[in-house]
Amino acid sequence: CGIVGYVGHRQALDVVLGGLRRMEYRGYDSAGVAVLDGTGGLHVERKAGRLANLEAELETSDGGVRNGTAGMGHTRWATHGPPVDRNSHPHRDATQRVAVVHNGIIENFTALRSELEADGVELTSDTDTEAAAHLVARAYAAGETAGDLAASVRVVCRRLEGAFTLVVTHADVPDTIVAARRSSPLVVGVGEGETFVASDVAAFIEHTREAVELGQDQLVVITREGYEVTDFAGEPAQAKPFTVDWDLSA
Ligand code: GLU
Repeated sequence: CGIVGYVGHRQALDVVLGGLRRMEYRGYDSAGVAVLDGTGGLHVERKAGRLANLEAELETSDGGVRNGTAGMGHTRWATHGPPVDRNSHPHRDATQRVAVVHNGIIENFTALRSELEADGVELTSDTDTEAAAHLVARAYAAGETAGDLAASVRVVCRRLEGAFTLVVTHADVPDTIVAARRSSPLVVGVGEGETFVASDVAAFIEHTREAVELGQDQLVVITREGYEVTDFAGEPAQAKPFTVDWDLSA
């Protein structure tokens, strides 16, 4: 029910947990984070229940999750599969190099899961989301979109039906986060040497008021230096910049 992604100069875990806390008012049943440590590691922690449960889990996790300046977080409102740890986001592919968080519903997930299973992929959750993680990993590994994370996410988005805000990281692509949307909200936050994506500006307004609202079927790549928007065909696209002017103390 809430998504936040960050690439910048601070500890990503702190920023991401702060963003998730700011979106708690929306309600959720599970939470999780993924952090890219900048040396090829992707660290994921996820837990059913309140953010406090995730934070307790983080206490006992290896230090890697606190070592990165790029990462993302998710609070889940379960639609497909009960609110248990294995259905919590982020979801990963079999090689655990790709992590995906998702708000919304992928309507054609049954067909996508069957296709993956027929190809020998073992799915480890009941969610509609997990298929997207495997599909992105496969698109990145081989074929026309090999080695290009944004192109891999675009090719997968073109296959998805339904409503989604998707945020994707790949361990081989440090300092970069790719996000996409259809019929579900996605905003970019533009800071100094740091960039955010979120489902709600509440996630980043304590850091920046400069925001960009993505349009229907658009994808954004964020880095420390800024952001780049395309449509799902890869053509440059216009998103809508605005300044958040509400009072934070309200
Ligand atoms: N449909 C996804 C799930 O059930 C995402 C739900 C959400 O929007 O949080 O895991």
